[in-house]
Amino acid sequence: MSAALDTASSMIDRIRHDLVGLKMPRALEALDHVVRRLEHGELSALEAIDILLSEELTLRENSRIKTALRMGRLATIKTLAGFDFSFQPSLDKDRIFTLAQLGFIERCEAVHFLGPPGTGKSHLATALGVEAVKAGKSVYFTTLADLIAALARAEREGRLQERIRFFCRPSLLIVDEIGYLPVIAGGGNLFFQLVNARYERGAMILTSNRGFAEWGDVFGDPVVATALLDRLLHHAVVVQIEGSSYRLRQHAELMPEHVRSKALITPPAFTPPPKPRGWPPKNGHLSMTTQSALLGKFTAALTPAAPSAIQTSSWRSGWPTVLRMSSLTQDVGLLLFRLPGLGWPPAGV
Ligand code: ADP
Ligand code: MG
Repeated sequence: MSAALDTASSMIDRIRHDLVGLKMPRALEALDHVVRRLEHGELSALEAIDILLSEELTLRENSRIKTALRMGRLATIKTLAGFDFSFQPSLDKDRIFTLAQLGFIERCEAVHFLGPPGTGKSHLATALGVEAVKAGKSVYFTTLADLIAALARAEREGRLQERIRFFCRPSLLIVDEIGYLPVIAGGGNLFFQLVNARYERGAMILTSNRGFAEWGDVFGDPVVATALLDRLLHHAVVVQIEGSSYRLRQHAELMPEHVRSKALITPPAFTPPPKPRGWPPKNGHLSMTTQSALLGKFTAALTPAAPSAIQTSSWRSGWPTVLRMSSLTQDVGLLLFRLPGLGWPPAGV
């Protein structure tokens, strides 16, 4: 009897030693408890092995996720479970959960969250990023201002291509807060270079409080904005959130009515471009006014009056809640392509 106990105890010592050698700290920690339960007949040998391995795997998985979230700059963890969909009835919960299945990453698509401040754009973008990290995808989160600052710094130091390669590495790049801060001169061009490098090679999530028609103002250059939208709306999912700020929910009665309930993003008011005379322009390039008008036309094409390429579940104030617009933007892109004198893609972009 005592010989059998000695054998068991030296075997446990050996297992302990092996677990240290295999760097399995959680299994080592759980070993004594599992052995006790085994001795009391509460577990079978297979169950004991299963518990030890799954404890270790859980620990490893958690530390992998923690490291990946830190490396991906996903500092504030938000989850889909923590999102109150009843607060944003304009949002199609099923669509968001479909996005959480991450097919858009496989297909290298761009997902746009548009809406007024506080409606949960960053929350949803981060939550999808967290889902992607859990599924083993590489993710990087940045604001547009930080991204452009990093690219501008790299350009000054002669390392732009290296930096663009860095931002091309993650399977999912999240660019938050497009439209909050003015883009520095040349910033739109730098962002375009990155978007172009990732185009059809990696997925992106973008959040903005400004409608696409305003991107000319956001980037200070309608030509760059049109070129950006051309890439970012081909293979795209657009989620428009209309509603009140979650941040201000307890103080809603203090907010002016127009801020309380009305989305700040209104459908682009489409004014037809001035009828071109002597088209194409003599210098072979369109004037800035005409380019702005084209951008308006481009984005106006995304209103419900546009062709049937748009699939949507609901329409509110003239804008689709969710659009899928691959072929539509392709058509618009082609249309621009064919316009004489546009010089597409625009010089310097
Ligand atoms: P936005 O990016 O649209 O300005 P955020 O995503 O930053 O808004 O949301 C602001 C704050 O409110 C965050 O702390 C976010 O977690 C929270 N929040 C926003 N919408 C919801 C919601 N529907 N359910 C739970 N929390 C929300
Ligand atoms: Mg935000």
